Amino acid sequence: MCRHLGWLGAPVTLSSLILDPPNGLGVQSYSPRRQRHGRLNADGWGAGFFDGDTPRRWRSAAPLWGDASFASVAPALSSGCVVAAVRSATVGMPIESTAVAPFTDGRWLLSHNGVIDTAVLPPTRHAESVVDSAVLAAAIFDRGVEALGELVAEFGAADPGARLNILAADGTRLLATSWGDTLSVLRRPDGVLLASEPYDDDPRWRDVPDRHLVEVRDGTVTLTALRGAR
Ligand code: GLN
Repeated sequence: MCRHLGWLGAPVTLSSLILDPPNGLGVQSYSPRRQRHGRLNADGWGAGFFDGDTPRRWRSAAPLWGDASFASVAPALSSGCVVAAVRSATVGMPIESTAVAPFTDGRWLLSHNGVIDTAVLPPTRHAESVVDSAVLAAAIFDRGVEALGELVAEFGAADPGARLNILAADGTRLLATSWGDTLSVLRRPDGVLLASEPYDDDPRWRDVPDRHLVEVRDGTVTLTALRGAR
């Protein structure tokens, strides 16, 4: 299971979200605290952010902990809407930068923690890679990210072994699902973070129950139980 995070709020640097926190994605790449599947996230990383309405990405198939170039430039990159991830590849999946989240359709950035049998997904011609997460992202882009909660419930019912923690952003909102793995939310005075696991021990972090949809918009956080919630 990979680890991801999303930020919506005031512009902040990528390093302040990803590399500086004591248990941020940088540390989660080799020592995650809550990961249930896989021990480390060495199979690449991706940092996506909105530059106005434009999603931009920096992805790599190498471990985040050794990336001196990203560490050098990340303090100079700021955004009010960020989706970032570190990857632990599912057995049999390719190791390539195009297999690393976030995926995009030019409007949304989307990350997936988990696994799905792509045979249950509607056919798509837009996947960036053959990795299950890219095929899933393309299916969600085709059907509409606005329906994320419905789609996760539908795909989760079609593949009972699926784990479908998804995080998506379009610059003005963050959407996330918990379906089979951990998800936490932190409301800060300057914005809201959603993350696979807390990046520090701030007591304001809250765990999201399994099989829920989280929507963040205009500083408001809304949790909704998904169809199939136990
Ligand atoms: N199945 C996806 C991959 O292989 C995601 C893996 C994960 O969440 N660890 O990249």
